[in-house]
Amino acid sequence: MKKMKKIFAGLVCGLLLFCTGCGQEQVRQVRSVDTAMGTVVQQTIYIAGTESAPVQDILALIRDLEERELSRRLETSEVWAMNASAGSAEGIQMSSFMTDNMIKCLEMWRRSEGAFDVTVGTVATLWDIDGWAAEERRETFAPPEAEQLAEALESCGSDKLSIEENRLRLREGMRLDLGAVGKGIALDHIASYLQEKEYITGAIISLGGSVVTYGRKPDGSSWNVGITDPADTSSSVGILVLEGQWFVSTSGDYERYVELNGIRYHHIIDPATGYPADSGVAGVTILARDGFLSDALSTACFILGEEKGMELAESYGAEVLFVGKDGRVTMSEGMRQYYQPGD
Ligand code: AMP
Ligand code: MG
Repeated sequence: MKKMKKIFAGLVCGLLLFCTGCGQEQVRQVRSVDTAMGTVVQQTIYIAGTESAPVQDILALIRDLEERELSRRLETSEVWAMNASAGSAEGIQMSSFMTDNMIKCLEMWRRSEGAFDVTVGTVATLWDIDGWAAEERRETFAPPEAEQLAEALESCGSDKLSIEENRLRLREGMRLDLGAVGKGIALDHIASYLQEKEYITGAIISLGGSVVTYGRKPDGSSWNVGITDPADTSSSVGILVLEGQWFVSTSGDYERYVELNGIRYHHIIDPATGYPADSGVAGVTILARDGFLSDALSTACFILGEEKGMELAESYGAEVLFVGKDGRVTMSEGMRQYYQPGD
């Protein structure tokens, strides 16, 4: 009898395998890890048929955006030209791509009551945030003097720039820094690219702390996006279980920082003080249908903290999850259906 059962089970398994094989195109998984935009790019893409993997195209798309548009360090970029125009009476004509993004940044600045502000460039430069990637710069780090900070803050504030039609005018000394939205903008472009390619059936692509999920896996299982535990970045506080296209962005005090005399100085500046934001939050994760929004909101909510951040995210129709410095996890009501706590 046992033997009969085994044969029967074998037959059923064989049939199932046969059925998933026939009538359906073979789907391949392609994975890669690279660096671009100063961070790690991880791609997992599912491809139907024999098309070649678009991993290099996606990397080129990210690098092009950085080199041509968003970098504040590369002289080839539009942001570099915008910064170089600061102080000139005529200002500079922006591309329509840049104008759209700058208008969205200004709206986020207004709605976050100034917490999110892409004019923090002068203050970010004073802190040498970009330099912290290099060990020798971390070793010689000293926080800026209060007077230096006060002076740098004079050149910050989105109320000090003007946009008329496509023309941007920045006051002398102002420096834009689009680091808070660059990854989200890139993920929006990547999502459009994925949609154009019929042979791509699913993908999960991360750019540092920002992730896009797209389509589905061949086995029909969900996309799981881990939420890093700020207290132990090798583990996660939980996962988001997602179907189809979503953008998840996390801002945390563990992503880029220096430590001196037991104090951690991180890369998210509170424009009200010029110092790293200190709202009691160690990590913020946003779930949204738009990459720009998820990235901008994660930075804004980190500065605003739990209460005001929750209000802002919900006003944009996004979900938010906070990990406090004390490890406490709180989230918007709508986030609960996607969140699974870790063990
Ligand atoms: P994210 O990792 O997306 O939260 O972005 C952090 C980056 O945004 C920093 O490295 C800075 O380049 C920039 N940034 C820092 N503070 C602010 C702020 N208050 N508003 C907008 N951008 C900021
Ligand atoms: Mg951001």
